[in-house]
Amino acid sequence: MGHVHDAIVVGAGFAGLSAAVDLVERGYDVGVLEARPRVGGRVESMVLEDGMRIDSGGQFLCADMPNVMALARHYGKTLVRPHMEGNFILQPPADEAESWRIYRESANLRERIKGLDPGDPSLAGLSVADWLAGQNASDDGARAFRSMIEGLWCRPIGEVPLWYLVSNDRRITNTRSELEYFLGETMHSLAGDLARDLGPRLCTATPVDRILTTNDAVEIRAGGGTFRARQVIVAVPPVMASRIVFEPGLPHALASALNAWKSGTVIKALLRYPRRFWRDDGLSGMVMWRDPAGLFACDVSRDGRGAALVVFAGGQLAVEWRQMARGVLQDAIVGKLAAALGPDARDATEISLRDWTDDPWSGGGYSDTIADASATSAEEIIRAGRAPIHFACSELSSSFPGYVEGAIVAGREAAHRVEANARARHARA
Ligand SMILES: Cc1cc2nc3c(=O)[nH]c(=O)nc-3n(C[C@H](O)[C@H](O)[C@H](O)COP(=O)(O)OP(=O)(O)OC[C@H]3O[C@@H](n4cnc5c(N)ncnc54)[C@H](O)[C@@H]3O)c2cc1C
Repeated sequence: MGHVHDAIVVGAGFAGLSAAVDLVERGYDVGVLEARPRVGGRVESMVLEDGMRIDSGGQFLCADMPNVMALARHYGKTLVRPHMEGNFILQPPADEAESWRIYRESANLRERIKGLDPGDPSLAGLSVADWLAGQNASDDGARAFRSMIEGLWCRPIGEVPLWYLVSNDRRITNTRSELEYFLGETMHSLAGDLARDLGPRLCTATPVDRILTTNDAVEIRAGGGTFRARQVIVAVPPVMASRIVFEPGLPHALASALNAWKSGTVIKALLRYPRRFWRDDGLSGMVMWRDPAGLFACDVSRDGRGAALVVFAGGQLAVEWRQMARGVLQDAIVGKLAAALGPDARDATEISLRDWTDDPWSGGGYSDTIADASATSAEEIIRAGRAPIHFACSELSSSFPGYVEGAIVAGREAAHRVEANARARHARA
């Protein structure tokens, strides 16, 4: 038998990278197999016409996210605070007082959801849309709430089980805006720093298609080769994990738990402008649409690097927009911004688009969500895994699921399970 690693990590997103770095620091012999030619997973970057690098996936962080903040500090990253001063705009338009009323009502609805008990049997079988219908909310408040939830979870609220949203949102505990900072060097560069620390332990362009468990070791078939380890961490989103063939097959409960998820649908766009024209009218550049649901924009200008807006289209809107030819889609985005911020929005000097829907190695974004309302134990079952096979991804995190912070936490939690299992094996031997 060839070399047998202590552990192999499948996937070099933040969960996989964090798990691997953690294990290496504890003295374990680790290999990392990544399907794409790059690391970072749902965190990636692209280069604009003038050479500026921007995040086309996960980007923002805030001081309430201790692990990603500590990593950013450790690698000497520049925290950039997006410009937030000025008024936000609601679309369709409302005057300032009415905008605040609608915003507060939708935020209060979200607080009410967080206050529910995910284990309450009366929530069973209800979708978020069912719950909303019983809230006596104003039409505008309900539409703003729907837009916020579809924009954040990137799935239609009629298809998101209520208990799932409650359980998920209760772990998203920031009191500051989650858009407090982005990294001047990009979030993606932080994944590059972790990868550099792993050195030759990391193999990119090596997709894993089969994981075989034998008496002696786990055999991982990837990129035409076979890799061996005592334990494996599958650090990919649940939908991606369900596509890997396991031999022998995973226990029924675990296979069903992986099949209970659906990927989110999202398009991220960046529009550059000659100047921050929205400031002329005292606007922050932040736009929240309640129609269409799931659309949001904010200012990501960098001092000395030009003016820019980022636009997110999540949920059903992304599904519809991705059917359009690129030029038509760009016109649709520019048209929405012009209606909100004025005709200068039509003068974008550069537009970049990243459609994450059906991405071959992520499945979508920002995260997978549980779609099977009866799968109340799915997360717990996947987190428990089946030694020597463990699972990690942001979705499974005990804090900030669906965020980079959550991916780091989930990766480290999986590394601890590997270590506990290694110790137990050692004690038995
Ligand atoms: C457009 C967008 C914007 C976002 N914005 C933010 C934000 O501002 N702030 C924030 O905190 N979060 C944001 N997120 C979410 C955040 O990016 C994710 O929660 C986080 O990066 C997930 O990390 P992960 O390691 O769990 O999974 P992933 O990043 O998906 O990593 C999994 C890795 O496994 C690889 N892989 C998959 N299948 C296989 C296989 N069979 N073999 C080998 N490798 C495989 C993939 O290529 C990938 O590299 C955003 C996401 C998107 C898509």
